[in-house]
Amino acid sequence: MERYTVTQLERLNELNCPKEELDQEFETKEERNEHFKKLEKQLTRYARNDIFDLLESRLITKYRVTSNKMADWLKSEGFTEVITPTIVSKEALKKMGIDSGSQFMEQVFWVDGKHCLRPMLAPNLYVEMRELLRITRKPVKIYEMGSCFRKESQGSQHLNEFTMLNLVELASVKDGEQLQELERLARGAMEALGLEEGEYEFTQEDSEVYGKVSFDIMINGMEVASGSYGPHFLDPAWGVFDTWVGIGFGIERLTMALDKGRTIKRYGRTLSFIDGEPLNI
Ligand code: ATP
Ligand code: MG
Repeated sequence: MERYTVTQLERLNELNCPKEELDQEFETKEERNEHFKKLEKQLTRYARNDIFDLLESRLITKYRVTSNKMADWLKSEGFTEVITPTIVSKEALKKMGIDSGSQFMEQVFWVDGKHCLRPMLAPNLYVEMRELLRITRKPVKIYEMGSCFRKESQGSQHLNEFTMLNLVELASVKDGEQLQELERLARGAMEALGLEEGEYEFTQEDSEVYGKVSFDIMINGMEVASGSYGPHFLDPAWGVFDTWVGIGFGIERLTMALDKGRTIKRYGRTLSFIDGEPLNI
């Protein structure tokens, strides 16, 4: 029995071939090769049609559909978008508990000795929410959506550059009600994306940065978001003393989950794909 070669499988995967087709067996190599050719041609046609559909009628990629749905929902919840620098200081990381001792340090992209590409939005949001509370003396609800950078050993769920959407609420709930609020927000986000109860689940996990209070949103066994809350042991270093809740979503992971995709690289910043379809067709 003959099966597809590694090169053929790579090409079929690239073309979004349905999983069942990949396991097919053939009597002879000739039969297999002929089958491969036919399948490749068919899948290429699908991809081309999808690209035409994008350029001529949809005009907006799945990535942007996901981020727009999230932004619309956040607006309806009274959150304001903030835009902060992508380059952050070593000092800021240290205040997040990330310094020479921690494993996370090895994932950081350094720009120079004292600056790096942000691996998370939290340090900037700590400053923004603290200052806004100082000025307004009212509950603060803000979010940022932007690139974060981590050296990852790649794989199907990790990109070196990905888009985090981090929402935070400061001084908005009574102490003791943080987890409840996290759940309410998480449920709201899933609803905004069109997911129904049962299509996602919440778990509580240990987190290197936040200690024992990490709350995760999972879709089909994949983490799509992590939430946390304060008062927290990192807060005093940032001059924050009120309750807060925050959730960081990965836009590419959400998009991949909604599209039932097998690999995240189709959904991120890339020159190899457009809206999940390969460009080398
Ligand atoms: P994981 O354990 O899967 O590596 P994490 O717990 O380190 O993720 P968080 O720091 O909780 O990630 O970041 C919040 C969200 O950002 C994650 O739930 C995920 O959706 C997304 N995310 C984190 N790292 C990446 C990455 N390298 N590529 C794509 N998305 C990511
Ligand atoms: Mg996490």
